[in-house]
Amino acid sequence: MPEGDAVYRTAARLRGALDGRTLTRSDFRVPQHATADLTGRAVLTTLSRGKHLLTRVEGGLTVHTHLRMDGSWLVTPAGRRTAPGDRVRLILANAEWQAVGVRLGMVDLVRTGDEARLVGHLGPDLLGADWDPGEAVRRLRAAPGRTIGEALLDQRNLAGIGTIFRAETLFLRGVWPWKKVGEIEDLDGLVALAQRLLDANKAHAGTVTTGDRRPANATWVYGRAGRPCRRCGTRISRGEMGMRPQERLILWCAGCQPR
Ligand SMILES: [Zn+2]
Repeated sequence: MPEGDAVYRTAARLRGALDGRTLTRSDFRVPQHATADLTGRAVLTTLSRGKHLLTRVEGGLTVHTHLRMDGSWLVTPAGRRTAPGDRVRLILANAEWQAVGVRLGMVDLVRTGDEARLVGHLGPDLLGADWDPGEAVRRLRAAPGRTIGEALLDQRNLAGIGTIFRAETLFLRGVWPWKKVGEIEDLDGLVALAQRLLDANKAHAGTVTTGDRRPANATWVYGRAGRPCRRCGTRISRGEMGMRPQERLILWCAGCQPR
């Protein structure tokens, strides 16, 4: 599942292809907007807010998309064949470039003034220009009895963390994922580390938290279930956190992250 760093890069690719150019084609393949047509309007810009993408179009409209589990935006020169048509949810194209939204989890078209209806619930964006760590900590602390693992994935607390950055942040801080938020001594330090990890990964594909970009060495616990911990040799544990059907993967080292 794409996390905040991947969505940030996607926004940058969409800006490069669409910003300032007039749409020559818009094709919404979702029932609620099947008749929408943005042809003739210039794209102003695309912003990422956590894992959400907001593409603002001339005339006060915003296209909102979310990659959810396995969505993506493919950007190619105009007219090139890309994905099988049944997976395409939205195409935005100009004379030079086309952006093809594949398997998008959400596609909405709203007035730009109404964007808050879609993203107003989000906590501070870890990669936003307005990142506010104090506000993120305040929101986390508001529910001290919650497990830190679940609280970090709740985008209303802070926006951008998925299962990879959750697992890696908690490992690096030595925090057991089921520890209660109210029992964590240095929540500020934990939030600051999560932000640094996302920021360090925003410019390149793949997640690197160890400083070693080779795929087999790039992470501490994520993708390493059953393998020995790089620090203490304990086998990395794998489990699920959260209530069905929302449960999500968690990996941790019982040696480095004791109860
Ligand atoms: Zn360990």
